[in-house]
Amino acid sequence: MKKKKSLFDYMYIVSALYLVLGFFNILFAWLGMICFLVPLMMSIFGGKKGYCNKYCGRGQLFDLLGNKFKLSRYKDIPNWLKSKAFRYGFLIFFMTMFANMIFSTYLVFKGTSSLKEVVTLLWTFKLPWNWVNVSMVTPWVAQFAFGFYSVMLTSTLLGLITMMLYKPRSWCVYCPMGTMTQGICQIKYKNK
Ligand code: SF4
Repeated sequence: MKKKKSLFDYMYIVSALYLVLGFFNILFAWLGMICFLVPLMMSIFGGKKGYCNKYCGRGQLFDLLGNKFKLSRYKDIPNWLKSKAFRYGFLIFFMTMFANMIFSTYLVFKGTSSLKEVVTLLWTFKLPWNWVNVSMVTPWVAQFAFGFYSVMLTSTLLGLITMMLYKPRSWCVYCPMGTMTQGICQIKYKNK
């Protein structure tokens, strides 16, 4: 019997919509905080990776593109990418870059630095993103949006590349959020 679909099976639409909205107004990037805080809260208070299993639209999106649209080569993911050293190394790198983004926001908040209307892809390539007027908010609010959208776009791009090269949900193997929530759950269960 076919499993009845629930609303949460369509979270991939929310993920795709999020990326599209960022093109129209970068301030929508703030909504991405939900995908950042909810899994953390669920693992801290619930001790489960329920977010990954049920609610993550990004995982669903890669699943859909790889399996339904056949955009994946369906090859095994290399061992180094699955290794603990790589996954935790990537998490540390990711969080360092995240802290750097927060620091840039702080500098704008302090007035030491001016707002940079760019989206940085793969932590390197600066794409001008100045077609929407963001003067309705204080500059640090806009700076955070540019930084956060850069993080979301970069991780989606990496996920798409690994989805095409390997299996559809290969990104989930080294996704910093997945590594972090898994680590939290393991610590929680060890201390029980
Ligand atoms: S590992 Fe990351 S992308 Fe995959 S389901 Fe979990 S949070 Fe989503």
